[in-house]
Amino acid sequence: MLDDSNIQASVSLGQDGKQFGHLTAPNSTQFSAYGTELIPIVVVRNGEGPGILLTGGVHGDEFEGPVALLKLARDLDPKSLNGLVIIIPSLNLPATLASSRLSPVDGRNLNRVFPGNRQGSFSEVLADFVVRGLLPHVDYVADIHSGGTSLDYVPLTMMHRIGDAKRIAKSLGCMKAFGAPYGLLTTEQEGGGMLEWHAELQGKVVISSELGGAGRLTRQSVEIAETGVRNMLVFAGILNGEITPPETMGRTQTRLISTPDLECFVLSPGDGLFESFVDLEETVKAGQPLGQLHDIRRPEKPALVVPAPRAGLIIMQRPLPMTRMGDCMFLIADEWNE
Ligand SMILES: [Zn+2]
Repeated sequence: MLDDSNIQASVSLGQDGKQFGHLTAPNSTQFSAYGTELIPIVVVRNGEGPGILLTGGVHGDEFEGPVALLKLARDLDPKSLNGLVIIIPSLNLPATLASSRLSPVDGRNLNRVFPGNRQGSFSEVLADFVVRGLLPHVDYVADIHSGGTSLDYVPLTMMHRIGDAKRIAKSLGCMKAFGAPYGLLTTEQEGGGMLEWHAELQGKVVISSELGGAGRLTRQSVEIAETGVRNMLVFAGILNGEITPPETMGRTQTRLISTPDLECFVLSPGDGLFESFVDLEETVKAGQPLGQLHDIRRPEKPALVVPAPRAGLIIMQRPLPMTRMGDCMFLIADEWNE
């Protein structure tokens, strides 16, 4: 697929039908000097038409993407398509196998090393392959994330308000078609290293997601991921059929929200054992105590109360009580009126 990458693909993007193959990425180790990681890739194509890249497992402790994409890869019939679907259920395969956010190969966070480097570390080489080898062949990208071990999110899809009005409208259309309970217009803290960012730079229509988290996989989060990616294929004009609205599965329509500034990210003002006073989906006022930090070593010390820096809706909460100063504990969002 790319002559100057160390990663070899056993599938062709120009071939009609369904191909199950691998991206073969070198991983030379103590006990496997010429060893490789075989990352599954599935290509389903039927003639000329729009293209989409679906990725899961960019972080290895987020499981909705891998499950939904494995099921989609098995189920998709090329005859029901018009165009190209590239499915990578777990892009960061060694991390997924280890249930780890970071790569156990090079210790890197795959979604912070884009656009990668063809001569870099394992994660950088992988990112470079995606940017130069896959993104140019598609029009749409859906990168399915969840909160992972240290974040618990309301189930949401997200997008950046980027590009021309037509592209923004398409991203918004994708979010609504996906049908997750929430759709977030996001301000990233460190967008430059992300897959989404570099797909957007190439002019793609991009959505990402946070479909739950806390390292779990729930029946509802899998259902949202599964129907969501199918609906997005229909919205993109790739899969024949109708969009399945969330109401038919007993869920509400997507509620649009935004995180307009960095004050939305509530950072811990100290170390300690955190006792939360609020729950996900709760609306809070500015200054309202969100919880308190207890210093385990000093029983005589009063707990440190953490106030809400702004008003809004709690859309993410840290599920791990042990907290370090600077950890992100909550994400507070606004309603988003189009
Ligand atoms: Zn993630």
